[in-house]
Amino acid sequence: MVKLTFYGGVNEIGGNKILLEDSGTKIFLDFGMPFSQVGKFFSEFLQPRQCNGLGDFFEFGLMPDLKGLYREDYLKHMGRKPEDIDYQGVLLSHAHTDHSAYLHHLRCDIPIFCSKPTYAILKALNDTASGSFADLTDITECFETYMNTKGTISRKNARTHPEIRRDRKFQIFEFGKEFKIDDIRVKPFNVDHSLPGATGYIIYTSSGTIVYTGDFRFHGRRETKTIEFMETCEREKPDLLIIEGTRIDEESSMKEKDVEDEVSTVVSKSEGLKVCNWPVRDTDRMMSFFNAAKKLDKKLTISLKQAYLINLLKECKDAEVPDINDENLALYASRKSWGLIGSDWNKKIIGEDYDSWERNYLDGSICYKDVHDSQKEFMFFCTNFDLKELVNIKPMKGSVYIKSVCEPFDIEMEIDLERITNWIGHFGMDLQKTHVSGLK
Ligand SMILES: [Zn+2]
Repeated sequence: MVKLTFYGGVNEIGGNKILLEDSGTKIFLDFGMPFSQVGKFFSEFLQPRQCNGLGDFFEFGLMPDLKGLYREDYLKHMGRKPEDIDYQGVLLSHAHTDHSAYLHHLRCDIPIFCSKPTYAILKALNDTASGSFADLTDITECFETYMNTKGTISRKNARTHPEIRRDRKFQIFEFGKEFKIDDIRVKPFNVDHSLPGATGYIIYTSSGTIVYTGDFRFHGRRETKTIEFMETCEREKPDLLIIEGTRIDEESSMKEKDVEDEVSTVVSKSEGLKVCNWPVRDTDRMMSFFNAAKKLDKKLTISLKQAYLINLLKECKDAEVPDINDENLALYASRKSWGLIGSDWNKKIIGEDYDSWERNYLDGSICYKDVHDSQKEFMFFCTNFDLKELVNIKPMKGSVYIKSVCEPFDIEMEIDLERITNWIGHFGMDLQKTHVSGLK
């Protein structure tokens, strides 16, 4: 007898946490953050507290209070008794926050099944995150103490006690290769989505065949993958279909290749700096901007976080990313902390502005001065957080801002959009939009 319980993902965008139980085996399909529910109670400046363990998340129904699922350091800190592991795995469809962010809270001995690119993206997030709640591929146990040399109690941290850092149990699969979780057989398929590694599953249970699509689309660089998956599903004649549908009532004939052509047209017409905004981890979109840069012999800047991600993704045959050493690509280091990048201070002092993983990239990086001095040559990647760099870059007359992210779908994003429009106006840039979305 198979039982499905939806702890998220119904009548909302993402937030998928679907429990599948079959003859004593319990697996979750995704374990994501429910954007709409989180948005009701929290914002950028009003965040759940780590000091309350899982309490703030349970309080607002962001995660279900289930035994044998969550990390032991948090449970102990909340005064709960130790629990035995009671779940055999999580099948992850892809690395978007609304499908994967709450992995942070899970016990590290629960196996997480995912594709190689999905693991690479989670690892990049894990290693380069600046905030809390990013223990996606390894966990650092919190609230641990030890007896120090003076005979008093001190708090442990990962620097003095590296053993509190433990790897999660990942099971990385090959697309098309069946695997088993107890008696449940699972076959993963690559689908096209706005980041690499997205997976659709065919799950063979004791009561029949279930298809779980995850997020997918048909207009990106891996369109044929989605078609192949759908054709396979048709042949398998599933008993149950769990499918995502954010924009099923919309039709778009635009393809990723069209975005690339539009970007090329806008860039070729611009007389100044080209400021480009696309979703950070959408490497397909990055390829569209990169291909345009190559065609027009411009230099596309990417952030250090993107460089870190590309280095992990280049090992995955299922992900297409630019070569980090390509002459039309440049690594851009933002001003941080004291903001000494590009100054005469020595390497060590400048390096102190950055996290250790970032320092490895500083030697080959450029900064605001380089972009300021050769504005016509650059396509400058700029998220909303990077707008501040423009104060130092000082976009020249004839500069353009190419917005290649989705339209706002909630109040907070509307406000953001207004603010961003003010920045674009302040620097006298021409606003151009190019985007193709589809199922989120
Ligand atoms: Zn997604």
